[in-house]
Amino acid sequence: MLNLLEKLSKSLDEAYNAESIVGALRDFFIKNFKAENLEIYVFDEKLNILKDFSLDWVNPDEENPQLALTEAVFDEVGEKFCLKREKTLYYALPKHGKAIGVLRFDNIEDNGLEEFLKPSAFLISLKIQNILLAQNMQKNIDFHELIRNIAKIIETQYELSYIIPLIGEMIDKFMSNNLIYIFIKEESEFKLLWPANCKDGNILNGLKRISENPEYFLSANNKTGIFPLVNENRILGAIAAKSMNGNLSEYDVNYLEQLAKQSSITINRANVYAEILKHATLDALTGFYNRRQLEERIKQESAKAKRQKTPLCAIMTDIDFFKRVNDVYGHAAGDLVLKTVSKTIRSQLREYDIAGRYGGEEFAILLPFTKTEEAIMVAERLRKSVENNKVDLSKVNPDAPQKIINVTISIGIYEFKPSDEADDLLKKADKALYEAKETGRNKIVVNYEK
Ligand code: GH3
Ligand code: MG
Ligand code: MG
Repeated sequence: MLNLLEKLSKSLDEAYNAESIVGALRDFFIKNFKAENLEIYVFDEKLNILKDFSLDWVNPDEENPQLALTEAVFDEVGEKFCLKREKTLYYALPKHGKAIGVLRFDNIEDNGLEEFLKPSAFLISLKIQNILLAQNMQKNIDFHELIRNIAKIIETQYELSYIIPLIGEMIDKFMSNNLIYIFIKEESEFKLLWPANCKDGNILNGLKRISENPEYFLSANNKTGIFPLVNENRILGAIAAKSMNGNLSEYDVNYLEQLAKQSSITINRANVYAEILKHATLDALTGFYNRRQLEERIKQESAKAKRQKTPLCAIMTDIDFFKRVNDVYGHAAGDLVLKTVSKTIRSQLREYDIAGRYGGEEFAILLPFTKTEEAIMVAERLRKSVENNKVDLSKVNPDAPQKIINVTISIGIYEFKPSDEADDLLKKADKALYEAKETGRNKIVVNYEK
């Protein structure tokens, strides 16, 4: 027997998860005790059910007569540690004098199995407890990672139509036994943002209910749950979960509650950030108008030029080989160059000229009351002053291969025509800029098209 115990202990040592433990034990008992089959069940205190140890989920709805029988004898086994019903042997997995689960051997013969289990059930129980602990820890680690990731989304994005599917996908992956839906409240309507559709009447009705009382609630059969997303008593939306294998467990509800809390914080921050950006008119790096505001000004200036029949020119600039600046000297150096170039450009303009940051290192300048000939002179001034202006990189990048650098810009010019739409102004200036790039850079091209 000692020899056998040693063998058992060795095969347990090699097992590393539920599946491999069940596999190793089955092999062991089938080979050494001619058992026909072995099933292992563990008791889940939170869910108050006996679970098949080799499965990581349970389906209480599914009929399983053998499991039902095992459940029925579990309490009895707990006291006696061993119970025999016809050719089936139940043996408790002990922990401090109590049963934490049960081994069920089917169709066994009287060949000393019971005797052998007296010492070995402890060994098996210990190993199973270790695995359960590890599973739990891993789930907790995964959960905290998920919470962290939801909090982090906001670092790069604030658009809800982008953020919500990201959050939905992450929760979905974590809670793979549940269907997850995320709704955002717009005015008084709940709008589904993850996944594409929801036809579940329970959920749709449940949304009405949380509008009245912003607490999470579970359906009568615990199959679905609605968890409101709330910020300072205001409902931002809801996460809904529907169990695919029975009902939402206490674990699920606990996780979902916390996920709803973290998601609320993230969504609220995204809303606040989007609101701030909506009111911002200036680009933070250059102090020029931002793209949105620039477009606003183009509409105004082109309408004014049409109405008052005054000339209006647009200049588009793009820094030459700017990618190289980033690549060679680093992003901070790139930013400093952008700042310096925008400052240089501003210093060459009249007060009522309008400068905007069109894209990364592309600036658009509107010159009201200006004809093409004058615009060319302004552009030439811009081109020369940028070319001559040195940028000192020693502060942002002390290790730069070269401390003082300069960059050049290419320029496209277009004069607004009464037949043009507002949109045409930059589009046509950009065409000229493209030609300037194509034909050598650090130069000016005018688009004279009618
Ligand atoms: P080209 O002469 O054809 O314009 O060459 P280029 O290298 O300038 O090419 P392109 O205009 O496509 O490259 C723009 C680069 O500007 C890409 C991007 O990495 C960089 N960029 C855009 N916005 C910023 C920013 O805010 N800061 C920094 N440092 N780099 C930026
Ligand atoms: Mg560019
Ligand atoms: Mg460029």
